[in-house]
Amino acid sequence: MRKKVNQHQLEGWINHVQSFTHLGKVPDYIPALAKQNPENIAISIVHLNGECIKAGNLEHTFTLQSISKVISLALALMDQGEDYVFSKVGMEPTGDPFHSIAKLETSNPSKPLNPMINAGALAVTNMVEGSTPDQKVGRLLSFVHELAGDNSITYDEEVASSEFKTSFLNRSLSFFMKQTGVVEGSVEELLDTYTKQCAIDVNIQQLARIGAVFANEGKDLETGRQIIPQHYARICKTFMVTCGMYDASGSFAIRVGIPAKSGVSGAIMGAHKDLGGIAVFGPALDEKGNSVVGMHLLEMLANREDLFIF
Ligand code: GLN
Repeated sequence: MRKKVNQHQLEGWINHVQSFTHLGKVPDYIPALAKQNPENIAISIVHLNGECIKAGNLEHTFTLQSISKVISLALALMDQGEDYVFSKVGMEPTGDPFHSIAKLETSNPSKPLNPMINAGALAVTNMVEGSTPDQKVGRLLSFVHELAGDNSITYDEEVASSEFKTSFLNRSLSFFMKQTGVVEGSVEELLDTYTKQCAIDVNIQQLARIGAVFANEGKDLETGRQIIPQHYARICKTFMVTCGMYDASGSFAIRVGIPAKSGVSGAIMGAHKDLGGIAVFGPALDEKGNSVVGMHLLEMLANREDLFIF
């Protein structure tokens, strides 16, 4: 049964979480993200009929960061097929932080455990069709344009180059996977593509709209056109449930119970089959790397509207 939330409720929830904006920490391992103002918070819902409601700082844009991993996974599945993608990347949660290198060596066969941790996402980006980083980034951007219904979206060059210069751990993960045959080609080109993918810059409404396509089984909200095959949209949502909130995915499933993916910019994208796409934003993060304000907003939404999928 379709569900709806109204504008007034969103405004009330945004007022309620104002007092949490300075709990948590803005990440500093990507220098450009350390400059974010924790008071820029926002929420948007795009219902399945395409209607959009939003509250908070609506002008502000932010980068997708790890949320882009869901999008690159959908595109790699469409480019290479399920068998190939999962020959290189596993399907199991790790229980480790998103950038952990630990299980790469100990898992057998040696492949990243899932596409939502950095190692798995790097392997997935490596599979996106295109012979140069520019071609791959161009295809990722066109795909984002289709999902968001907005051709103006691009990537933030400052954030991309800031991450590219400091991606020592992601380079290590990639070199390890090149040794084990999971990654092919140039690691520098992979990092170039990956950091631009993570730096794709959106506003709160555009993010909710992307979530709504996943909620709508991969179909465009207005035309009903299948942008992502239904089966692949379901694979993406399943990973959002099992691994979308890093090593907080279990407690998030209990507290919120909505398929969701977070990014270190402070954004979280949700996809709910009866409600639509959900986007929340607040730059200060908890110790697992999830937005403090975003978690509060989603918890309120899930509880007040009874959105638990389980
Ligand atoms: N670009 C970030 C990284 O690779 C994305 C991580 C995240 O959002 N958790 O470190």
